[in-house]
Amino acid sequence: MKVPLLNLKAQYEAIKDEIDRAVAEVFVSQQFINGPQVVELEKAVAEYSGCAHGVGVSSGSDALLIALMAEDIGPGDEVITTPYTFFATAGAIARVGAKPVFVDIDPSTFNINPNLIEQAVTESTRAIIPVHLFGQMADMDPIMDLVHSQNQKPKTKNQKPIIVIEDAAQAIGSEYKGRRAGSIGDYGTFSFFPSKNLGGAGDGGLVVCQDAERAERLKILRNHGSKPKYFHKFIGGNFRLDTIQAAVVLAKLRHLDSWTAARQKNAEAYRKLFHECGLAGNGVALPEEREGRHIYNQFVIRTHDRDGLKAHLHANGVGTEVYYPLPLHLQECFAYLGHQRGDFPHAEKAAADSLALPIDPALSEVAIEYVVSTINQKPITSSQQPK
Ligand SMILES: *Cc1c(COP(=O)(O)O)cnc(C)c1O
Repeated sequence: MKVPLLNLKAQYEAIKDEIDRAVAEVFVSQQFINGPQVVELEKAVAEYSGCAHGVGVSSGSDALLIALMAEDIGPGDEVITTPYTFFATAGAIARVGAKPVFVDIDPSTFNINPNLIEQAVTESTRAIIPVHLFGQMADMDPIMDLVHSQNQKPKTKNQKPIIVIEDAAQAIGSEYKGRRAGSIGDYGTFSFFPSKNLGGAGDGGLVVCQDAERAERLKILRNHGSKPKYFHKFIGGNFRLDTIQAAVVLAKLRHLDSWTAARQKNAEAYRKLFHECGLAGNGVALPEEREGRHIYNQFVIRTHDRDGLKAHLHANGVGTEVYYPLPLHLQECFAYLGHQRGDFPHAEKAAADSLALPIDPALSEVAIEYVVSTINQKPITSSQQPK
């Protein structure tokens, strides 16, 4: 049996008419740049996320970049984030010339450990970027409490308040204490990369925020900082979202909740099957689901001999992926930060023992049973338990 990690063809087959019609409308209008679908999507995603404003941008990476640019964060500034995330999170910080300051993860959720943030704060800290990894939100209350108390302290001259940018690329529609991803910090950033829960037909992204002035600044920055046309207030860039992408994402947004429900159902099926066969907590650690709404962009298990299990699954037709094999503090490009192995042990351990299984909404129950029984065929002794 073949079980792909992701089945975008099945998704397209199911809603082909809607997608094709949405794309055709853009061609008829020939408004490929800043068409009405962009504004419509911005409103829809802002509303979906409990935010006042949405600004479409060229990718999730550029969403992070433009949020940092809008706050004038750059050389001399520090931005705190997790070393266990997709590269773009820290890449954006370095791109604006600021210093990424890493804080280890909570191993039970893979998200930044809020208890470790305070000791990383300095007078140069300008922002914190928590990442809602794999579809579950980071523990936001202690992060926001810390930021509020830091911002109330007397400031040195030129010191600016700390802001929070939620990297919600993997978490559109996820919830923490009734609040949606992107609505708690000063900015929230989304990606429409095709493998995300709400994916476009190429690259795309969106920034949400509650503040009208911030939204206005983002809109100016994404268009080379010009307002009015050919008069440049800031040095921005071309960070626009194509109308075609907006049209495709809008059409898909109508289905997002049903896809999320299917992902959650698949996660439940995995949990049940892993418990039934005795692997749960005995060779395989299941992802911990906290209170709130987990949208399961990924279903990530942990196991000893992760690479052996990946190869075994691959040989049996099951697609998996390692997110992420090398934590960011150990990446070659960040060698200048002077980190070494052992600095963030929980991120390093997660990079060594985590494996994402197929969780696609189109997955059948039979396929999930096949994945679990295939894992069960591979002997994993209890002495090799990851925790
Ligand atoms: C996908 C992703 C991004 C970048 O999004 P792109 O649209 O691919 O540029 C940023 N952060 C995280 C956590 C992601 O998963």
